[in-house]
Amino acid sequence: MPRNPRYDILFEPVSIGPVTAPNRFYQTPHATGMGNMKPNSSAALRAIKAEGGWGVVCTEYCSIHPSADETPYAYLTLWDDEDAEQLAVTSDAIHRHGSLAAIELWHGGFHCNNRGTREISLAPSAVSAEFVYPAQVREMDLDDINRFRRWHRDAALRAAQAGFDIVYVYAGHDYLPFQFLSPLTNRRCDKYGGSIENRSRLLRELIEDTREAVGDRCAVAVRLAIDELHGETGFSSERDGRKTIELLGELPDLWDIALGGSLGNDSCSSRFSAEGYQEKYAAIVKSHTSKPVVNVGRFTSPDTMVSQIKRGVQDFIGAARPSIADPFLPSKIDQGHEDRIRECIGCNICRSANNEGAPLRCTQNPTMGEEWRRNWHPEFIPPAITPENFLVVGGGPAGLEAALALGQRGHRVTLAEACGELGGRVLAEAGLPGLQNWIRVRDYRSYMISQMENVEIFLDSELDAEAVLEFGADQVLIATGSRWRRDGLGHNRRIPLEIAADAKVLTPDDIFNEAEIPAEIMIYDDDHYFMAGALAERLLLAGHRVSYVTPAESISSWSVMTNEHEFIQQRLLSMGIETAFTQSLVRIGKDFITTRCIHSGVETERDFNALLLVTSREPNDRLFQQLPQGSANRIGDCLVPSSIADAIYAGHRFAREHGVDPRQLVPRRERAILQPSTLNQG
Ligand code: ADP
Ligand code: SF4
Repeated sequence: MPRNPRYDILFEPVSIGPVTAPNRFYQTPHATGMGNMKPNSSAALRAIKAEGGWGVVCTEYCSIHPSADETPYAYLTLWDDEDAEQLAVTSDAIHRHGSLAAIELWHGGFHCNNRGTREISLAPSAVSAEFVYPAQVREMDLDDINRFRRWHRDAALRAAQAGFDIVYVYAGHDYLPFQFLSPLTNRRCDKYGGSIENRSRLLRELIEDTREAVGDRCAVAVRLAIDELHGETGFSSERDGRKTIELLGELPDLWDIALGGSLGNDSCSSRFSAEGYQEKYAAIVKSHTSKPVVNVGRFTSPDTMVSQIKRGVQDFIGAARPSIADPFLPSKIDQGHEDRIRECIGCNICRSANNEGAPLRCTQNPTMGEEWRRNWHPEFIPPAITPENFLVVGGGPAGLEAALALGQRGHRVTLAEACGELGGRVLAEAGLPGLQNWIRVRDYRSYMISQMENVEIFLDSELDAEAVLEFGADQVLIATGSRWRRDGLGHNRRIPLEIAADAKVLTPDDIFNEAEIPAEIMIYDDDHYFMAGALAERLLLAGHRVSYVTPAESISSWSVMTNEHEFIQQRLLSMGIETAFTQSLVRIGKDFITTRCIHSGVETERDFNALLLVTSREPNDRLFQQLPQGSANRIGDCLVPSSIADAIYAGHRFAREHGVDPRQLVPRRERAILQPSTLNQG
């Protein structure tokens, strides 16, 4: 299909200093959890973005020196020429598709624990290390600053040697150059401290050093956190941010504008931010420089993108998460297939991967992170050698993804769903406060399926074993999901609870099924992800008095991995939730519970009117168990309850691997290199 002329502006080339981006789609730096230990996986991941039409593709953070070490998190390194050789594979892979390759040079200052390298951590002022551990950080003297500039310059030279077109100076997210900018972390009294002219001196020098070293071949980009969101006591956009751009605005070739000291503000989840949420910050920079500006905002709508450019908010469409959820977003717009964009849902599961030290995964895009390891392509799936008739039971994430991918392989698929609507768990979950974008999991798949002739969907079709067998499919796939447990089994509790027969105990499924809820309700959270917190918010909004009891030390404690933790605490505490932390549930009476402090063992009785148990789920696998052994497969939550991302992955993987020789399915592994000749060198 031809491109809609309305979107032509997105495909204009843009000059960035000595190089030219082929269009305005700019994949800004984002972590992959792969780093220098997984160079093949990293290169293949970036190559897919370039193949999908991103005009600029940037790496994740790349350490310039061993004193910038974030073990156990995965980061790239440009410490020596071998690193440059390794990174050349990534820049080559990006160039093969005609895109510009950018690299984000990084030093984390007090953010680095240096656990791997055992170097002393450095910062503008002597402070405690950022992550809680028994160490402090040394104040850099002028020699240190000069050494740091030399490391940065050397890394820039290696970046150019590795073939990169755009070299970043990274002054964001609480990292070293930003620590000099912020009055909260820079307490120096020399020429690098005090006034904003002094605090921005190092950034100026880094830009000048980089330009002098590689500026003839490479564009120099600055990633700046324009506001660290600590009000006037911190580096604020209205005061320091504006002044920094006034002072340095014309020095780099491009400004990449970030937000907030921590990454949680910059990659804010959809629960706490809307598309384009950083616009007012990018606009400040744009109005003070003639250089191109790029900024993220979870952009998935081409009309919003055009509006950003036309209104002069930015010159590019900056994206990390939308490029993860759909690496082919630009080429879909280019080919008039914007209706097929796999829109990011803003769940931040991708962020959790890096925070857990694991390779990147995505809820919407099951192929993300598997480009090299399993040779999966987000837009191509090999056709089946022998097409078969499939019956898929269940239209949640797992069933929908399996039906779509099986259909794409050329199988004939019938999907039966018990409800009158597709979506399974996301139907209910997308109704929780702030989670409305999660319905995109269903919408993308049901739309794609609606375009296919070989996949048929039957709603209001609850199947039993007899109906399944009568249908006579060649292959049966059960994806009937899970239900929340009513017996208290969870992370903290391995033995079911005894529950008084007349106690009013509810589960999330009861809330979704509109059970009657008294004015006061107690939630017990032993699941620790979003569910208990989001239900608490829903109930508080509906006027209930909510108390929240958990063995954890905070509300929705695992959300620290999705960078939502602070936002959740702030929102629910400000709404008046009552909390009792470090309490595990030991007994449920008619109208009271007994909890035990996980540290002291002291037991406390607490009264309740209704108790909502959010602990764990059990597979809804009755249908599977009723079928003759070997007559069906099962996937997703009905095999093992987990995240939506895991259900989608399970559906996709089943479809890809069905009928393929198992010997071809062994994933490739990145291997550390053995160097026998060095072993006996003493
Ligand atoms: P998953 O995350 O694994 O996809 P979900 O719970 O989201 O699991 O979805 C399971 C879907 O299966 C739900 O939409 C549910 O209505 C449907 N389902 C459950 N049992 C049957 C059945 N016997 N026949 C048809 N559909 C079923
Ligand atoms: Fe978007 Fe979620 Fe995928 Fe991240 S994991 S890219 S937030 S859909």
